[in-house]
Amino acid sequence: MKMHSNLTMICGWLACASGALAADNVFHGPTFYGDAPDAHHAWAIHDANRPQPLIVTPGTVSTQEQPGKPPSDAIVLFDGTDLSKWEADTGVGVPTKWIVKDGAMECVPGSGYIRTKEKIGDCQLHVEWAAPIHVQGDSQGRGNSGVFLMGLVEVQVLDNYNNPTYADGLAGSVYGQHAAMANALRPPGQYQTYDIIFRRPLYAKGGELLEPGYVTVYENGVVVQDHAVIEGETGHQARTKTMHFPEAGPLKFQDHGNPVRYRNIWYRQLPRRANDGGDDGYLTTEATTAKRAEIAASIRADADKMTGANQTVARTLRYAESLVYTRDDATYQKVEAALLEYVAGIAALPADQVGAKKDEVKHLRDVCRYLAKWKIVPDDYAPKAKLDQAVKDHNWDKR
Ligand code: MG
Repeated sequence: MKMHSNLTMICGWLACASGALAADNVFHGPTFYGDAPDAHHAWAIHDANRPQPLIVTPGTVSTQEQPGKPPSDAIVLFDGTDLSKWEADTGVGVPTKWIVKDGAMECVPGSGYIRTKEKIGDCQLHVEWAAPIHVQGDSQGRGNSGVFLMGLVEVQVLDNYNNPTYADGLAGSVYGQHAAMANALRPPGQYQTYDIIFRRPLYAKGGELLEPGYVTVYENGVVVQDHAVIEGETGHQARTKTMHFPEAGPLKFQDHGNPVRYRNIWYRQLPRRANDGGDDGYLTTEATTAKRAEIAASIRADADKMTGANQTVARTLRYAESLVYTRDDATYQKVEAALLEYVAGIAALPADQVGAKKDEVKHLRDVCRYLAKWKIVPDDYAPKAKLDQAVKDHNWDKR
């Protein structure tokens, strides 16, 4: 409740008449509110300057008869009509011998793996597959294919409906590395869905591992891999070896001699992690400094545009806000001078007009307290002392 009342007060002061979240998807408050940025975090807590995420229209869920619609920002790799985004795994531009039938792409046994022409790195991937309705073979010989992330890491595709096999080779396993945590398969012939979140391993310039790769897999909505560490390429019989992953690679589906079908294949690119050049999350001190300077510059540029006669206070606050991210002497002096001028203006107001300034003065006083708390200004900052005094003189903390 406290947070709500503070928010209401601050937003009210900033005259954010349309409410906290405006229709333009820009959030207008609060400011000088949560913990300030530090050496590893470029944003303050609850930072109104932190960019809003992309607006995504969600897709729809598939039924057996009908594939669902992908989310609005998905990159569709196969929509049931053609293989224009795919090629044989034998060479660039070599046509695949897999076929399109009844809205699905189907493995023609002996034709080899199929792969995307484009290279894909960290992603959210959606794949639907169906094993042949006519059951043949057992264990690894029944409805076997595979989703190869970056062409290197196989999330197993296998008809394990009433068909046991080794646990690290079950459908939904990371083949040979991580057993599937559940067997949530539907009978053969029916479509199964895989929703996969994939992060490749990251390496420092010197080649040492910076952050492991991870894969999370939902099989028909049931989690079967939970942020499983990717140690290296998957393979048969042999223990994997750590290896250097490139930035991206083609998505491949395996030809394991069974006519497995795929449909409704799409992915969404994921934002870069902090260790991968991303600018959000726990950053290095260098990256944090650079990002804070960028945020401060952007806020100052915004303040520069606030030239209206009635924007003096708002402009000063915006300049002050920029100091929370990066010290800039010229801006610091500008803010201090403007605040002192403001206090002098308040002192000169006739008694019947000063009451209308109560909320504004208190807010500026609170801003100064925030700046002092985070060592952006000294404790004895002159505007802070004068604003404190003005609030005290008018007994505004009590009334
Ligand atoms: Mg396989």
